[in-house]
Amino acid sequence: MRPNDHQLIEYAARRAELMRRIGADGVAIIPSATEVTRARDTQYRFRQDADFAYLTGFKEPDAVAVIVPGRKDAEGNPADFILFVRPRNAEREIWDGRRHGPEGAIAVFGARQAHSIEALDAELPKLLAGRETLHYTLGEYPALDPKIIAVVKHIRDVARRGAVAPHTVVALEQTLHEMRLLKRPAEIELQRTACEVSAAAHVRAMRATRPGRNEWEIAAEIAAEFSLNDCEPGYGTICGGGDNACILHYTENNAVLKDGELLLIDAGAEYRGYTGDITRTFPINGHFSAAQRAVYEVVLAAQLAAIEELTVGNSAGRPHEIATRVLTEGLVKLGLLKGEVDELIRADKQKQFYMHGTGHWLGMDVHDVGRYKLAGEYRVFEAGMVMTVEPGLYIAPGTEGVDPVYWGIGIRIEDDVLVTEQGPEVLTSGVPKLVSDIESLMATRA
Ligand code: CA
Repeated sequence: MRPNDHQLIEYAARRAELMRRIGADGVAIIPSATEVTRARDTQYRFRQDADFAYLTGFKEPDAVAVIVPGRKDAEGNPADFILFVRPRNAEREIWDGRRHGPEGAIAVFGARQAHSIEALDAELPKLLAGRETLHYTLGEYPALDPKIIAVVKHIRDVARRGAVAPHTVVALEQTLHEMRLLKRPAEIELQRTACEVSAAAHVRAMRATRPGRNEWEIAAEIAAEFSLNDCEPGYGTICGGGDNACILHYTENNAVLKDGELLLIDAGAEYRGYTGDITRTFPINGHFSAAQRAVYEVVLAAQLAAIEELTVGNSAGRPHEIATRVLTEGLVKLGLLKGEVDELIRADKQKQFYMHGTGHWLGMDVHDVGRYKLAGEYRVFEAGMVMTVEPGLYIAPGTEGVDPVYWGIGIRIEDDVLVTEQGPEVLTSGVPKLVSDIESLMATRA
């Protein structure tokens, strides 16, 4: 897809900011994703590497972007953004689809210079020579790592003749990923759409659920809503009825939904490279039992309290602290844990029922980039960060010392929250989560 003028300006602004961060003596190398074989000669649907997409908007595999702040060509024109891409190839394009080639990389995507990817080995030494710091994440791109190491060594070997070789290699966590953590206005718009479509899919799933249907039928409703809104799944949909909800990464999605049990769905739509991430848990027959409701209200209280912590300047560790406290208090009230709340938390006793974290950064990747701690301490929230808030309780069938009425109940409630100067903004409020709202919605089922 061709980027429009607004998008081109946006990508250029991101590159300019990256150049500012890496400085005049830096150079950054950002590889695209490559196609992955699914079966013999067919590939998985291609997904561009998020770092590469963020800076270029270029959607083809087997490309490399090189950002060289301040670089000029022989005529003195800016030459700070170089793309290496697959060359045009009439025959391959008939089979695999259109390619922009180096000409298109310049004309359509605004590269200052572009070459065939086959020229990478020959051109890289010229781009790296004289730069002190190389910004590149070693270990992520096994095919490229040895080439880059060889280029650096080559420049160092000839350095006696005056060239300077990069002496420091910095992972992109330090620069690009810190940029991606703080969403720009254009990104927030896309994030919003992804969250709205995700919410609509969960509403559709609630409306479609009834005893006797299969998990895969409900997963199909989710997939249909994504596809019909020009989205694809941001990750594998989890659709687990009954005690399948207690399997955190359940993706079999092939069991019959039973009257009297709950259905847990964790699914998010990806729109233009940004993904939503929502979990809802609701009764298959449309009515919570007393035991289900009791556990649900504890998880919901924990989620609502944790969301309130996503405020500018607050510690990013607070949502989990608060959720853990509210859940543990609830477990004591329900009789699932016995003892004093602080003691129980100190001894991690709640982990028997709540064994995961309360949230993660969200954006282009579902578990998005960005550090959680700086110098060993949780960082503070800033406007433009997006985090999931997803406490849960999972009571495995047959748990000793627990009233059997709770066995097999697994509940998670997850929303996506944007940190703003005005406070936390829930981007996924389009799907109900109060008991009464869920029951009302399900009462309207056909
Ligand atoms: Ca999730």
